[in-house]
Amino acid sequence: MFETLKPQPADKILALMQMYRDDPRADKIDLGVGVYKNAEGVTPVMRAIKAAEHKLWEEQTTKAYVGLAGDPAYSDAMIKLILGDAVARENIAAAATPGGTGAVRQAFELIQMANPKARVFVSDPTWPNHVSILKYVGIETVVYRYFDRDTRGVNFDGMMEDLKGAEKGDVVLLHGCCHNPTGANLNEVQWKEVIALLNERGLIPMIDIAYQGFGDGLEQDALGVRLVASSCPETLIAASCSKNFGIYRERTGLLMAVSNDTSAQALNQGTLAFLNRQNYSFPPDHGARLVTMILNDDALRTDWAAELEEVRLGMLGLRQQLADELQRLTGSDRFSFIAQHRGMFSLLGTTPDLVEKMRVDNGIYMVGDSRLNIAGLNAQTVPVLAKAIVDAGV
Ligand code: PMP
Repeated sequence: MFETLKPQPADKILALMQMYRDDPRADKIDLGVGVYKNAEGVTPVMRAIKAAEHKLWEEQTTKAYVGLAGDPAYSDAMIKLILGDAVARENIAAAATPGGTGAVRQAFELIQMANPKARVFVSDPTWPNHVSILKYVGIETVVYRYFDRDTRGVNFDGMMEDLKGAEKGDVVLLHGCCHNPTGANLNEVQWKEVIALLNERGLIPMIDIAYQGFGDGLEQDALGVRLVASSCPETLIAASCSKNFGIYRERTGLLMAVSNDTSAQALNQGTLAFLNRQNYSFPPDHGARLVTMILNDDALRTDWAAELEEVRLGMLGLRQQLADELQRLTGSDRFSFIAQHRGMFSLLGTTPDLVEKMRVDNGIYMVGDSRLNIAGLNAQTVPVLAKAIVDAGV
């Protein structure tokens, strides 16, 4: 049987990580993988997570199974964090999943179960895993214009025009905030226009929110998802705690199905539990428990939010420094988009050849599509990157 297997394409970002490790240059800079790093290049365990783990170790008396949808207290806490008061709790079904990826995968399976004819519209570009999981699950994917390669902002007219090609029942996948890989995001007016189009055409929004708190703040980053969930009849939301709680390997995510018809909640909840059962039975609990403890404890929550804010402001500072440095070197504002983008990533919008040139000449590792991880920089490496960008002729 095994002889029939075909080699699968290597994950480009993981392959890049390996090349970085193998590079002997001391001054190499890793702007590849999507993990937050502090100025020392470390992905720290957040203070509140450490404190919660300590408490959990002391207080936890059993590791028995929890429930197919995870602990309802986790869902409650996360729903509050993401949706605030935008939607009544009884309109939301939710289940814990292994990371945001698990939530995305389960959402796609739910779409396929509910409407096998639905196509999923994804932004050009989007997180590559969206596209590869859709293909694997067997859902037709349609790309909509999103990134304007001249301004490096959102090509909103192109996006709206392409979404008009969607038909009733199709799903539109949107990034809640901090778009990966571009860093370019919708503003409030644009969110409202998208919502009007979704409702006019009977399209179902699916929001992937993996960076709440990394852009403009915890509340501001939830603006889009709250507007959508409170204005559309049905919304799917895939959330990740990997970045904003720094618990990447604990695999902590949540899938929500929001309906303005309260009577749909029980059926949706049962479906989410069923999907968990089929795929991995009980979802991981450790990360979810830590998140719940932090969100429900005033002191832990305050400390977590403060540390998250330090992370966010640190990245914004690096963005500004890089944009300023490029302005100084080029005498033009053409890189000001770096300071306007939000989240961990910016798409430089240059060719794979120039990305490769910067890797070979300067030991700068960014993804081939020219996505750079701002958190891979620090005050000392920003000028090095800026010079490399200019030298390469980006
Ligand atoms: N969605 C997007 C857009 C992401 O960038 C990521 C992380 N790379 C995820 C979902 C899921 O992350 P995880 O499975 O690690 O929680």
